[in-house]
Amino acid sequence: MKKSLSKETLINHCEYVAPEGFAAFPEPVYRASTVIFDSVEALRSRKWIGRDSYTYGLHGTPTTFTLEAQLAEIEGGKHAVLAPSGLAAISIVDFAFLKSGDDVLIPENIYNPNRELGNWLSRDFGVGVRYYDPMIGAGIAELLKDNTRLVWTETPGSVTMEVPDIPAISQAAHARGALVVLDNTWSAGLVFDAFGHGADVVVQAATKYQGGASDLLMGAVITRDDELFRKISMAHMRLGMGGGADDAYLVLRSLPSMKVRFAKSGESAMIVANWLKKRPEISKILHPAFDDCPGHDVYRRDFTGSGGLFSVLFDERYTEAQTDRFLETLKLFKLGFSWGGTHSLSVPYRIRSDRRDWMQRGNQLIRFYVGLEDPQDLIADLEQAMRVLD
Ligand SMILES: *Cc1c(COP(=O)(O)O)cnc(C)c1O
Repeated sequence: MKKSLSKETLINHCEYVAPEGFAAFPEPVYRASTVIFDSVEALRSRKWIGRDSYTYGLHGTPTTFTLEAQLAEIEGGKHAVLAPSGLAAISIVDFAFLKSGDDVLIPENIYNPNRELGNWLSRDFGVGVRYYDPMIGAGIAELLKDNTRLVWTETPGSVTMEVPDIPAISQAAHARGALVVLDNTWSAGLVFDAFGHGADVVVQAATKYQGGASDLLMGAVITRDDELFRKISMAHMRLGMGGGADDAYLVLRSLPSMKVRFAKSGESAMIVANWLKKRPEISKILHPAFDDCPGHDVYRRDFTGSGGLFSVLFDERYTEAQTDRFLETLKLFKLGFSWGGTHSLSVPYRIRSDRRDWMQRGNQLIRFYVGLEDPQDLIADLEQAMRVLD
């Protein structure tokens, strides 16, 4: 047949057969929209849901299946689906488990776009959304209703860093038949055993430590339960979620060094936070490993370490204009969202007026991410920037 084909056709039907026996460490990158079937029978009987065959690029390739398996493994889960961002992973969970008439409980300090999604579900989709004090613990039993389907959790909570009692919340939720979802991004799945502490479903923003280089967006939803996974997969498929092969490859490339990066970033963050704690400009260190941080005892009970993300409250005498100048004077800490990469970052946050008492006093809150620079250089940077405060 070959000889009769034109160059355009030949160039489209490469018949090169690679020799056997190539081995190397990197995962191959399989890019595909179309997946080719051997027979009509194979095409008709395709099963996309179980991750044990290939049907269409959106539903997975060897590259994305490998990453899903790795992320599930790190978290101590059994199944995972990839999403194009952490927020997309959050939306998969809401669409998998909520319908109009259901009730969902969300902690007040949840990652803010998750809260925004909750408000939207409440306004336009007939889902009852209520926000709870993250430090409520077993007291959540009083908030649970017969139609409470989902309890969102995050530990520590975004920006204000309170550490909730996940086992107590999970126990109360399970007693009323509600599912517990945990956004376990802060831990990267490394220092908090989500499933061991009661979560049914875990969300990771793999954009952070898993990506590790501030150059991609990726999310994952992970579970141990086959039936929950089936629902997650249905939502994943219906919403057209997936992960691109090249981004999946980049995460696979970063994962082997994640634990080392996390540990180094965590150690340096402790050095930087300890220095900040002694400074008169700072009134509170909101880092779970510090006793200033609400839920510190729970942290000591449930966590095995900490990463590079924490916040501080400046003394009340500093205005926002002053701390803004401080931020703009920093040289090594760049101003920007997200975290988990190699570079240190800072972000000022305005705390919601409905939050806990100690946050209503008007202290300026700044969140720091400590990357892989030498912590002494980062401290020198903070010190030079603090001079503009006086
Ligand atoms: C960053 C982040 C997300 C969202 O991840 P994106 O990939 O940026 O959408 C979700 N939850 C937490 C706790 C995060 O820090």
